Amino acid sequence: MALPVAEWQGRTARLWAALEPALRERLEAASLQDAVRLGCDLLRSKEEEEAALVQLCHRAPTDKRPEAASWYREQGNREFKRGRYQAALRLYSKAASHELPGSPEVSVCFANRSAALLHLGYFEVCLEDIARAESHGYPDRLLPKVLLRKAECLLCLGRLQDAQDILRVLESKIALDGVMTPHLTRLKRLSQLKVKLGEKERCPEPAGEAHGGTQGEPEIWEENNRISGASSSLSLSFDAERGRHLVASQDIVPGQRLVKEEAFVSVLCPGESLPLQEGDTAWDTRATNADLYCHRCLRQLLASVPCQGCSYAKYCSQDCAARAWQQYHRTECSLGALLLTLGVFCHVALRTVLLAGFAEVSRLVAGSHCGDKNLQSPEASCKPLSEAAGAGAGSRGVPGCDSSGRYQSSYQALFHLLPHTEQHSPEHKFLCTLSVVALCKQLQAAGLEAAVLSQESPQQWSKPKTCEKTSAELSPELKTVAEAMLRHVLQLQCNAQAITVMQELGPGDGAVVDKKPVRLATAFFPVLSLLNHSCCPNTSVSFSGTAATVRAAQPISSGQEVLHCYGPHWCRMRVAERQQLLSQYFFECHCPACLQELESGVKSVVSIRNSFCCPKCQAPMQGEEDTLCCSNEACATSASRDHLSGRLQDLQQQIKKALDLLRVRKADQAIKMLLKCQMDAGTFLSPEHLLMGEMEDHLAQVYATLGKWEKAARHLKKSIEIVEMHHGPSSVETGQELFKLAQILFNGFAVSEALSTIQRAEGILSVHFGPQSAQIQELQEMKACLSELPRNILQRT
Ligand SMILES: [Zn+2]
Ligand SMILES: [Zn+2]
Ligand SMILES: [Zn+2]
Ligand SMILES: [Zn+2]
Repeated sequence: MALPVAEWQGRTARLWAALEPALRERLEAASLQDAVRLGCDLLRSKEEEEAALVQLCHRAPTDKRPEAASWYREQGNREFKRGRYQAALRLYSKAASHELPGSPEVSVCFANRSAALLHLGYFEVCLEDIARAESHGYPDRLLPKVLLRKAECLLCLGRLQDAQDILRVLESKIALDGVMTPHLTRLKRLSQLKVKLGEKERCPEPAGEAHGGTQGEPEIWEENNRISGASSSLSLSFDAERGRHLVASQDIVPGQRLVKEEAFVSVLCPGESLPLQEGDTAWDTRATNADLYCHRCLRQLLASVPCQGCSYAKYCSQDCAARAWQQYHRTECSLGALLLTLGVFCHVALRTVLLAGFAEVSRLVAGSHCGDKNLQSPEASCKPLSEAAGAGAGSRGVPGCDSSGRYQSSYQALFHLLPHTEQHSPEHKFLCTLSVVALCKQLQAAGLEAAVLSQESPQQWSKPKTCEKTSAELSPELKTVAEAMLRHVLQLQCNAQAITVMQELGPGDGAVVDKKPVRLATAFFPVLSLLNHSCCPNTSVSFSGTAATVRAAQPISSGQEVLHCYGPHWCRMRVAERQQLLSQYFFECHCPACLQELESGVKSVVSIRNSFCCPKCQAPMQGEEDTLCCSNEACATSASRDHLSGRLQDLQQQIKKALDLLRVRKADQAIKMLLKCQMDAGTFLSPEHLLMGEMEDHLAQVYATLGKWEKAARHLKKSIEIVEMHHGPSSVETGQELFKLAQILFNGFAVSEALSTIQRAEGILSVHFGPQSAQIQELQEMKACLSELPRNILQRT
């Protein structure tokens, strides 16, 4: 997903293998500038490669297809009739994204979607969709239906006068058109609404209470005057071993906010379910990230605003759509399929140069050529900061800082993140070079060069020509752009930051919400990039939209380095797996967890807890080889690792099936199946195996959907024990489980236990996400609600 599709990777690998050795050597040693030049020459003589790329793009179409639109709309109507409004909503959105803007068909999509929104109780959004339908030329003969919906919405919102006005318009319209049968039912509905309106007027409901009372105090936050977005309790340091890094300049307490940074650039990841199979007769009804989150700000989508030009980009609002268009999407829109084919890293690289603007890009690229070899590896020449620090020179001399020594979340800082040009494998560099050059050639062929070079003068929307001959030589300006993009693609391998969110799973209508973290976008955060990695970090990162927040996860004393985990956490992976993953960052981790596991041969927590047990006597199985032996000498049973791994896979399949049953609301069957899985697992997995906990968690989920709160709580507590063992009692994972338990106890009126669980969950989650996070607010609301319960209920528990 980050890299180009496998077929394109394969083609460039074959091309690389077939190159003359002399050319291969030149490419291996080439600077970024030379790599782009050589890449251009090479692609010009290999038209079949570009033709193959165009062919691959057909598998990820992003253009509008009215025939897909009508299919999605029909599917939406079908779901709507079944009362599955959430599904209908998504399908109508997909339909709208394929209709041509301003067509009567697109207005019908919006009108249909407004009906689903009304049923789901999103009245404000429903009104927006009705307005959208009206502005896109909704057919006049269908208008009464929509006006009636509008009146109903206004009524629900308590806007009585507005509702009355609409009803009056509607009456006169129906009178004018003459009474036709379809209108008769509407007239009936109209009179019902009028009765309702009369009732409401007689006894007006109290105005909605302002949401409040639980707002925590604003956090204390003093910004560092040398590093934008960082706390004043940090300082920027530099040494040969660690490069640039952040150090606590005073004692820091858990939960304290250390960095808050808006991404310089971020690109939504398409997600896994993007259809990439040959032929597209069957449209995909599954929701991808592009259907669920705003293309620009990553906010969750309810009623998306489709892009005018493509079916891929969808926005939370007209405003986001307009801004994205102005900033980058007018260049990206017609290249959607190519960007999906070349992967997210290429996309981020393109968007980065578009956001930076050509002037800044060419200034920094030129600077990197200007005899200043240091820019290729800027830190090599940099004087250790400690020399200067005493003299108050601060961070002047640290690469990426501006002339006043301030490090800002800017393109300049981003440009100076290490590209590790010499350390990437030559094949990888070759793949990146050809991809970037192909993308720039396509920009030129599509007539988008002007848009890339002068972002400040937006042209009229005109559909750029596609698939023109791309044999022309790249202009010098585009070569500069390509060089910057190549740099960014290489930087991303070490500096890409995944933006993750907790996505809701399952049917989504249960009282207990199950969530799992998903990768939403890939981004550059120049300040966050200053943090070095540790497998046992002292911070925790969370995201809200495109902003990242780093908090201390434990006390950090003055002088200690502030560290963050790039992914391989010691609780989730063994040291060998971690070091393997970390090799992409071109360093060896020497964190305490790695040193301990490597040097003293201490077995990682992961392997101890995720081990197999003897199928005969349940004692732990031992051995590093292909054959495992029972640790109980008297038993002496042995089993092959492959066999046990096979059983584990089967078990996971079964669990998946049970969850599918839950999804289609066959809770009883799901329980049966999960209990059977548990029995089976007990015969070969250690009791502390993570999967044992997961099964308990799933059981809790099923019982919760049935309203069996006590049973649900019992299973969840077992899951919490295992999660605590694996991730630690103050980990995010434990916090999330406690949050679920609090919801279950709350629903089951187990008041005193609920209160103590809420308190524990609050304590943990506020360290990781801060006192203002949605989950903390929810916990506080639960607490307030419980404390308002009448005394007699409280005493019963
Ligand atoms: Zn948005
Ligand atoms: Zn578009
Ligand atoms: Zn480590
Ligand atoms: Zn045994």
